[in-house]
Amino acid sequence: MNTRKPLRPSPAPPEITYTNCRRCGTEIAGLDGRYACGVCGWANHYSEGYRTLPTAQDDPDWTGPHCR
Ligand SMILES: [Zn+2]
Repeated sequence: MNTRKPLRPSPAPPEITYTNCRRCGTEIAGLDGRYACGVCGWANHYSEGYRTLPTAQDDPDWTGPHCR
């Protein structure tokens, strides 16, 4: 019998998106509109992503509001 706790239903996987780096122009891939350029180090702000970031409670290891 499987005694592991049941997994939460996982959210939809992030979507791979592409853009040109705003600093050096290299085409880069990102997830859900969030990018980090491996050439020059530019990254856009997380709020530019078009999905909200998962919260701590979405982490399968989350055990409660007081855990660290
Ligand atoms: Zn760049």
